[in-house]
Amino acid sequence: MSAVTAADLDAPLAAALAAATEDRLVYDLAGIEGRHDTLRRELPGVQVRFAMKACPVDEVLAALARRGAGADAASPGEVEQALRAGVPVGSVHYGNTVKSDRNIAEAYRLGVRTFATDSLQDVAALAAHAPGARVFCRLATGGAGAVWGLSNKFGCPPADAVRVLAAARDAGLVPAGLSVHVGSQQMTGEAWHGAVEDLGEVLRVLGRHGIRVDHVNLGGGLPALGYRDRRGTPLDPPLDKIFAVIREGMDELRRIHGGPLDFVIEPGRHLVADHGAIRAHVARLTERRAADGERRHWLYLSCGKFNGLYEMDALQYRLVFPGHPAGPYVPAVVAGPTCDSDDAYSHEEGLVPVPAALASGDPVWVLSCGAYATSYTTQGFNGFAPLPYAFAGGPERSGADD
Ligand SMILES: *Cc1c(COP(=O)(O)O)cnc(C)c1O
Repeated sequence: MSAVTAADLDAPLAAALAAATEDRLVYDLAGIEGRHDTLRRELPGVQVRFAMKACPVDEVLAALARRGAGADAASPGEVEQALRAGVPVGSVHYGNTVKSDRNIAEAYRLGVRTFATDSLQDVAALAAHAPGARVFCRLATGGAGAVWGLSNKFGCPPADAVRVLAAARDAGLVPAGLSVHVGSQQMTGEAWHGAVEDLGEVLRVLGRHGIRVDHVNLGGGLPALGYRDRRGTPLDPPLDKIFAVIREGMDELRRIHGGPLDFVIEPGRHLVADHGAIRAHVARLTERRAADGERRHWLYLSCGKFNGLYEMDALQYRLVFPGHPAGPYVPAVVAGPTCDSDDAYSHEEGLVPVPAALASGDPVWVLSCGAYATSYTTQGFNGFAPLPYAFAGGPERSGADD
């Protein structure tokens, strides 16, 4: 496997990582904006609603809002943060199908008028606590082809979606749209193709029931580009093909619908993952015989599953060892600092070549961890603090105090 070097990074991100003398999470706002602008070019006319949970950082939301992106919020707390960051309330929708009466009432009070739903019970609650709101019904997807499938907990089959939207209409809500989420880090165009088939089927049946929605929400799932799988193989998602399938799908759905139909997309990971990186350090490189009798190297880092790398059970992140531009390398299991054995890459399949000369305290850069890093961080598991964050080319800021 080839080693990653600082030369593989965007220059502002590399400079900010190199300048850091303590651990931190660095976001490259210009890179995030660039990814957003590319997405708008690839999917002309599609409204972007950033899925906030992927990076609930005010500066990121504000930067995206300045480019015209809205927010996909999942709780009143996220709605408040989006508004505080400057997202116009009309560009905030409540994309979580899971909500209490109080969540709905709070979001409505804050001015949100568009809500996701997938059940008759939720429709009744929306009618009571968000009277007259626009609702879009989420269709269930199988999640095939995604690293995280997100199936089962959300959405309903096409036939039920018609019932849900009819009930919404009868309860005085506006049956405004349909949505899908094809699974996070979706690696195949086929998944969007399948979603378009389901969406088309529901649009046809809705038309027969006299229900005319005005938008389709294509959800999240667009992949990050810089991940490796559990074995260390680059994931290399076919992004161009995915965009082509989505463009064709939108044409097809407009044809089926026959009337005006707007499209919304809710990327999370895709916008931020590759434009955030962690400056961590080596706790220790050890070699020892474990309970299975195997002798292995273990590289313990200062950050892991509970402070920045929550997704390390499904992914490997590319690592840069700036103090060790050349080998020799030894294969090691990479692990976080806590007393939890899940805080590690898979030791059966995930050995990573690391410089044999690594010493405690040496800096390590963990790449493509801008998505789901802060949101999955614990308050201080085992006393390892959440990482403060900073911005490439911008003033340093603590993430812990807001
Ligand atoms: C999490 C989520 C997203 C973003 O998913 P990504 O895979 O990060 O793009 C979008 N929409 C909804 C409703 C979500 O829950």
